[in-house]
Amino acid sequence: MSKRRRMTDRYRRLSFLSDIEGMKNAIGEMRGMFFPRQPVLNQDAHLHDQRPLPDEEWFIRTIKDKIARHPENGMEYPFFDEPIFDEPLVGFVRGNDPIFDQFKEVIGSHHYTPWEIMRWQAINNGVEPPEPEDLSVVSFVMPITRNTKEDSAAAADWPVERWAQTRLLGEIFSQTVVREIVTALMERGILAISPDVTPMFNKKRYPGVGWASPWSHRHIAYAAGLGTFGMQDFLITEKGCAHRLGSFVVNLKLEPNRQRPDDIHAYCLHYQGITCLKCAKRCPVNAITEKNAHNKETCYQKVADSLKYCNRHYHIFIYGCGLCATGVPCESEIPKPLR
Ligand code: SF4
Ligand code: SF4
Repeated sequence: MSKRRRMTDRYRRLSFLSDIEGMKNAIGEMRGMFFPRQPVLNQDAHLHDQRPLPDEEWFIRTIKDKIARHPENGMEYPFFDEPIFDEPLVGFVRGNDPIFDQFKEVIGSHHYTPWEIMRWQAINNGVEPPEPEDLSVVSFVMPITRNTKEDSAAAADWPVERWAQTRLLGEIFSQTVVREIVTALMERGILAISPDVTPMFNKKRYPGVGWASPWSHRHIAYAAGLGTFGMQDFLITEKGCAHRLGSFVVNLKLEPNRQRPDDIHAYCLHYQGITCLKCAKRCPVNAITEKNAHNKETCYQKVADSLKYCNRHYHIFIYGCGLCATGVPCESEIPKPLR
């Protein structure tokens, strides 16, 4: 269970000082700090564990079960015990897929390949790093609930309270889900790692790239065939673009279960020549334009400003926006003409 104290009947006081888990989460995202220790590989597990290795079905079932039943998939006051996320989508991509080398060019050399991140985990555990072809990445999409999307779609300037809670509690929950799975695998003697909770993870301005992280769940989800990018840079999946994403690397050969479109904008109406740009109209700071698509710097400024707003109004320490992900044709599905 997270150490975050669940607020059931009132707001926390002096949240700038008292929302410790929120602050830790924000600093963790930027600096790769405050994460729980990585689980240790049980190198003797094969001596007594005769169970078959986890396969694709095991991962799909386990992630779906956790999102359906985990006590941390729940909001705080005043929405106590409403779920944060609906049923997820799960996809796989092999560790030696050439797309990871392309990411080095498209995203930047700072973006890790599955092998680079697993090498760190292997060395930490005193074992030989597995070959890239023996690795897979598990990627999942956690759709945001109808209540949250409806609230957000009705807002024009700032994130609504359910969205802010989803942003913070949903991220903590996502990390918990992955940590539990990675720990279970490591106890069974299977190397596994969640790249975004290691000290190597830090979000920052990279030269020539702007704000970015060294492990992009969005790009990993695209690689796993779970969706394609929209004008606002969110991933449009069969459950839309209002979601949170997670991913982790495992030392198992898992078969990809989805076809990845070559066109990285296959599910965006505007990119496919159909009139839309509803996301641009939703943006309160004009960060999305037909000419320049998504301006990350303008967007970042708005998102950063939202920290004060969320703190004052919702008593939690989080930043976010996402207005362009709701009230748009790609909010909850692939737009009809493109299915
Ligand atoms: S709102 Fe329209 S233009 Fe914007 S990402 Fe969605 S489909 Fe594309
Ligand atoms: S997330 Fe960024 S692009 Fe989208 S509405 Fe907010 S400021 Fe605009």
